[in-house]
Parts: sequence; structure tokens; C-alpha cells
Amino acid sequence: MAELEKNSNKDIRLHDKEFKIFISSSEISIIIENLAKKINNSKIHNPIFIVIINGAFLFAADLLRKVKLPNTEVSFLKLSSYSGTKTTGNVNELIGLSSSVKNRNIVIVEDIIDTGITLEKIINILNEKEVTSITTATLLFKPEAYQKKIDIEFIGKEIPNKFVVGYGLDYDELGRNLPHIYKLKD
Ligand code: 5GP
Ligand code: MG
Repeated sequence: MAELEKNSNKDIRLHDKEFKIFISSSEISIIIENLAKKINNSKIHNPIFIVIINGAFLFAADLLRKVKLPNTEVSFLKLSSYSGTKTTGNVNELIGLSSSVKNRNIVIVEDIIDTGITLEKIINILNEKEVTSITTATLLFKPEAYQKKIDIEFIGKEIPNKFVVGYGLDYDELGRNLPHIYKLKD
């Protein structure tokens, strides 16, 4: 909290837009610590964590260092539905998925779930590959924007339906390397 207050007037500008700090890096660490505990308690058997890049790269790096499930594998998938600050609804093709996922327990690692269109698409593709189970871990979730019925087992933090950047999340490719998460100033 102290850090959030300290940083609260540190606005940033990316392209044409102003952002203000929303979730500090210290709050992100606490969120991830709690998520890792829940994932470790879930006892998922021989999991493959499938990290959805680019957005989830920092989240996955921090989360997976704390995952202690035996025989954990990590793989990466690229897929995106975003252009600018509004979801387009068009999900592009899948790139990656090197490991064989048939008969495996999958944990999808997402940065943020907004409408759920991307998540549904990923789940459909994985189900075609005859996986045993799919669970989802997301750092952020926008319940007001969510349009799907799919359960999301591991949610770091629910946020209002506002555009956010930082900690992997971009605004037209800027902001991914920021340690804090920022929201668009209104
Ligand atoms: P959905 O398909 O659930 O609408 O959107 C999922 C993807 O859109 C996320 O993985 C993320 O890449 C992007 N996205 C959704 N909301 C935001 C946001 O507030 N900020 C940024 N930078 N990306 C977002
Ligand atoms: Mg993403």
C-alpha cells in the first residue's frame, strides 16, 4: 500500500495515452504468491503449463518459479485478439505448442481475461488435441466484460472493465516491460 501511495502520482504516457498506476509490483508479488499456493494445493498431476505469449511472459516467469507440482512442464503459445485498446473479437492463428498435449493435464497461463473469446478459442484447440483436463490461471479478470460460461479456476485479481498496461500487457506493443500495472486515465 505504501508503495502504491508513493507511486500514485507517477503517471506515464504510451503513444497518445496517459496511464496512472493501478497495481504496484509489490501487490503483484502478493497476488502471485497466493495464486501459486492455490495451484500447488490443487495437486494437478504432471501438468503442462501453457503460457499465452506475449502478454503472460512476466506473469508466467514469476508464477512458475513458485509452482512446486511434481513433473511440471512449460510450453508457450502465441495467439492474440487485440489491436489498440479494444478487443477486436478476431482471434489470430496459433503459433507454437511444441509439446504433445494428448492425455495431459493442461494449465493455461493468461495475463488477462476480458471477453473470454481468446480463452474459449484456446480451449477448443486443446480439446481437439484430446487433452485430459484444462484449468486456467489468469493474473487479471474483468468480470463485467466476460461473455463466456467457462470456469476460471485460478484468478489473481478481478478488475473493472478498464484498459490496463504493464507487467507484460501492452498498448500497441509499448508498456510490456513496466514492473507495475497501469490503467488508462479517464
Ligand atoms: P479476450 O479474448 O478475453 O477479450 O481478451 C484476451 C486478451 O486480450 C488478453 O490475453 C490480452 O492480451 C488482451 N487484453 C484484454 N484486456 C486487456 C487490457 O486491459 N489491456 C491489455 N493491454 N490487453 C488486454
Ligand atoms: Mg494475452
